[in-house]
Amino acid sequence: MSFNSIVMVKQVPDTANISGQVMKEDGTVNRAKLPAIFNHEDRASLELALQIKDRFGGKVTVITMGPPRASDILRECLYMGADEAYLISDRKFAGADTLATSYVLSEAIKFIGNYDFIFAGRQAIDGDTAQVGPQTAEKLRIPQVTYVEEIIDVSETSVKLKRKIDGGFEILESQLPCLVTVLKDALFPRPFKARRVMAYKNAKTLLELEKITEGNSLLYIDQLKDEYFNKGWYIHTLTMEDLKLDETRCGVHGSPTKVHKVESVVLAGGSHEMIPPSKEGLSKLIDHLMEDHILG
Ligand SMILES: Cc1cc2nc3c(=O)[nH]c(=O)nc-3n(C[C@H](O)[C@H](O)[C@H](O)COP(=O)(O)OP(=O)(O)OC[C@H]3O[C@@H](n4cnc5c(N)ncnc54)[C@H](O)[C@@H]3O)c2cc1C
Repeated sequence: MSFNSIVMVKQVPDTANISGQVMKEDGTVNRAKLPAIFNHEDRASLELALQIKDRFGGKVTVITMGPPRASDILRECLYMGADEAYLISDRKFAGADTLATSYVLSEAIKFIGNYDFIFAGRQAIDGDTAQVGPQTAEKLRIPQVTYVEEIIDVSETSVKLKRKIDGGFEILESQLPCLVTVLKDALFPRPFKARRVMAYKNAKTLLELEKITEGNSLLYIDQLKDEYFNKGWYIHTLTMEDLKLDETRCGVHGSPTKVHKVESVVLAGGSHEMIPPSKEGLSKLIDHLMEDHILG
């Protein structure tokens, strides 16, 4: 009894270091200008998928929808222990909101197939909506369990999980296949194995291989592709055409939500007022907090 997992990982702008021109004229986020990092919660979800593989065997496949440079986080997944990686990339995916993102991801998962688990982070640090996991499960018509901290047990047809709820946790059982969103603090992601870094630092997408062959008539892209594929160094690329997608459901066109503006909110110290430690002082403080919509 072994289980195959597909893990959705996202490359996100390092929101702790937002500076300069963040938005493009067309209202989409200028991701090329922002330092990019591996979404924290997705490392934890990959770790959970790898623990299932350690316990029961099976295969871990990682997928990301993003620009060509998102291949960087796929290499990191291979360093951690993933078996196969897919970059889902097309200019027509740009500006996607969660509806369009989950459509593309669910179609890519159907294309890859053969899975028992879909893993996702609870939330991405840029959009912060926590919507893509649940939306993808809906489109795949499979059960979903969110805010998962632990997988207690797995049988041929079902899984027992522990999920966080306000004030505690609950134990749930779900049939397989199912989608699980994972909390960052639930697991400590394993470090990269030096042996795997040495092996997979050469892993490349088709676009990256094409760059290698540019201006070198001795190198043939198909030959190189086969060579990388046979060595397990090939990162698959899936475009809108490969997935035969409905263009009206992708990118800006498929997104009812438009991000109006993104900016860094810098909390600056303003005026201050001494509040006497008395009943009157306390009710005055509560009034202030309610005025500022911090309370109530
Ligand atoms: C500041 C800001 C606000 C936004 N607000 C909204 C909004 O209100 N509504 C809306 O629909 N869109 C919104 N977006 C767009 C949204 O960020 C993108 O659609 C994004 O691709 C997915 O949403 P998310 O970042 O909230 O991810 P979440 O739903 O928080 O991501 C949850 C998990 O889904 C998986 N996942 C998400 N994106 C990808 C991907 N590209 N590839 C692989 N796995 C992925 C990861 O496992 C991730 O941990 C916003 C974007 C920004 C920058």
